Amino acid sequence: MVVPALTSARFETTVSRLSQLPESRLAEVAFVGRSNAGKSSALNALCGQRRLAFASKTPGRTQALNYFALGPENAAPCAWLVDTPGYGYASAPLEVKRGWDQLAGRYLAQRKTLAGVVLVLDVRRGLTELDRGVLAWIAADVPILVLASKCDKLGNAQLAVAMRELEAALRAEQLSNPLGLLSFSAIRRTGVDEAREIIADWLRPGETT
Ligand code: GDP
Repeated sequence: MVVPALTSARFETTVSRLSQLPESRLAEVAFVGRSNAGKSSALNALCGQRRLAFASKTPGRTQALNYFALGPENAAPCAWLVDTPGYGYASAPLEVKRGWDQLAGRYLAQRKTLAGVVLVLDVRRGLTELDRGVLAWIAADVPILVLASKCDKLGNAQLAVAMRELEAALRAEQLSNPLGLLSFSAIRRTGVDEAREIIADWLRPGETT
């Protein structure tokens, strides 16, 4: 089986409780990130679609896992992309924060078919405490790709410094997960091809258990 192109992504379903997760043996790739980090823009850029991730920003879906199907149109899906709720909204009530842990946190820790996690962060902000907390949820054998987004906002020298700091911050976490880091811009499409290749590798048949 060939690896499905990310451009084939289409919205499938919204899951607001762990018990509603699809009973699926297909590989899935989850996207996580602080609100406003650029997660929706990254998803749209990777999938080559302008409005795909807007589905996750519609009422009733913002605190849920949103499933996007990959594979040929009009055929059963070959894999899933899963958009998780943005976190770190300053004004979010405590129940929302707890809700994230209960749903997205436990999903990241327990989902057996998780083939990889893409963490989107704002390169100007670096790795925040909340990002660290989220990384800790991810099961130890699941590969992680960190997209340092909005890299178009920094000049070359500043970007080099920010990427070095980010690398050091990630190393300090001492994660056992396979880890990738890319500077990324949804606007300039920096890192899009590289990220697509990494995700395609995760989705290659036989990669999941
Ligand atoms: P989300 O809340 O993480 O889904 O973030 P969005 O994708 O909605 O982006 C939040 C804001 O950042 C929006 O105003 C986007 O236009 C902007 N943004 C997202 N990605 C980029 C990027 O790569 N470069 C720049 N300059 N702005 C971006």
